[in-house]
Amino acid sequence: MTDLTKLSLAATRDGLSNRDFSALEVTEAYLGAIEKANPKLNAFIEVTAQQAREMAEQSDHRLNSRDARPLEGVPLGIKDLFATKHVHTQAASHVLDDFKPEYESHVTQNLWNDGAVMLGKLNMDEFAMGSSNETSHYGPVVNPWRAAGSNQDLVPGGSSGGSAAAVSAWLCAGATATDTGGSIRQPAAFTGTVGIKPTYGRCSRWGIVAFASSLDQAGPIARTVEDAAIMLTSMAGFDPMDSTSAEIAVPDFAAAVERGVKGLTIGVPREYRMDGMPEEIETLWQQGLEWLKAEGATVKDISLPHTKYALPAYYIVAPAEASSNLARYDGVKYGLRVSGKDITDMYELTRAKGFGREVKRRVMIGTYVLSAGYYDAYYVRAQKVRTLIKRDFERAFADGVDAILTPATPSAAFGIADQDMNADPVKMYLNDVFTVTVNMAGLPGIAVPAGKDHRGLPLGLQLIGKPFDEETLFAAGRVIERSAGGEFSPEKWW
Ligand code: GLN
Repeated sequence: MTDLTKLSLAATRDGLSNRDFSALEVTEAYLGAIEKANPKLNAFIEVTAQQAREMAEQSDHRLNSRDARPLEGVPLGIKDLFATKHVHTQAASHVLDDFKPEYESHVTQNLWNDGAVMLGKLNMDEFAMGSSNETSHYGPVVNPWRAAGSNQDLVPGGSSGGSAAAVSAWLCAGATATDTGGSIRQPAAFTGTVGIKPTYGRCSRWGIVAFASSLDQAGPIARTVEDAAIMLTSMAGFDPMDSTSAEIAVPDFAAAVERGVKGLTIGVPREYRMDGMPEEIETLWQQGLEWLKAEGATVKDISLPHTKYALPAYYIVAPAEASSNLARYDGVKYGLRVSGKDITDMYELTRAKGFGREVKRRVMIGTYVLSAGYYDAYYVRAQKVRTLIKRDFERAFADGVDAILTPATPSAAFGIADQDMNADPVKMYLNDVFTVTVNMAGLPGIAVPAGKDHRGLPLGLQLIGKPFDEETLFAAGRVIERSAGGEFSPEKWW
């Protein structure tokens, strides 16, 4: 029998509806794969085997009675940031020890309503702060990819490192993820998977542990562009519980995947040609443009002049919002409590013990830039810069650009405990240089595997779209995927 974990999400769904195999069989295949791989990869931090089997049995029931919903019986992994009722939801932080919410996030509820099966909760950077999955309280996730001829452990990217690793290593058919500054697209690029951050407001943030509320968006990580489109169709939708959720109809994204790029204008922003950018990233970018041209797109040079301010502005806005959002973890309402001599002492001890280094750094920066003497100098200024960044994109789109092509990351995956990255937090922050602009402007962005570096590691390209025009990103992303034609599967060593 074929290995059911190797099928795409679309093929799994079709095989299930043809009754070629049962939902329970697929679920068991994934549970078996997780059991074998997880001690090495550390992608799952909670496996909900019992619940998965029950959900699969219900799906089989529906499939047998021809009452199947769009994702009936498809096994998924869920980032630990999403509230899942009565199931481990800790944002991979010590401060949320043993927290099991009483309610379900809107996005995951949408997936279950469409018949998907939950395999468990996925590792991530603590509170989604990081680019390597090394800030997790549960330890780093190991990238299933290794450089040719090397057995060095590499990072899968972050913060959705568990999601990307699990999808790439065939431990789930698809995964939920979130992106505040690049956390869907950068790990997707590092693992040869597809990740889309939809337009801000496309998915409800209800029930997603908040990092920076004006930037956070949920989206899928999947093995193909089509799979990502199928998942996003289920995840998205208006929710009155999130005041920033958009009351806009959700199209059938999968229907747009084969639409092609004929007649589209693709913008190439000159400011994304960074000093010291590796030659192979530049080559890949040019290759991507050639592929799009070959299928009938026109390429146009554009300028996004405020690009260089995006990263510094992001690292003011995001920590500012985080410092406010994380004020609620005080040892009173949920999670860890470290007793002290009085209540203030208890707060301080709990937060000192419960938060990791990176989270503390963000809370301190955020508190500083919001404090009375510095609010105007830092926070207000960063918000103004944000408006300028958004305006750059608006201008490009008004000038006839349909989508923008850029590299997804400045390099391929790096080593776990990389000295350079860990000695200097700013080096780690530079991973987001191509992705944060998109969050600052609230736009949709997709990362698609497009090639490999000189060591055989996957590299991704990013497409940025107009607000609520994810369809064009799926269509253009599919052209890149098809033209790259490569095998973006790691060689199994675990
Ligand atoms: N790496 C970025 C950060 O650490 C983005 C994280 C994210 O998108 N959640 O803030």
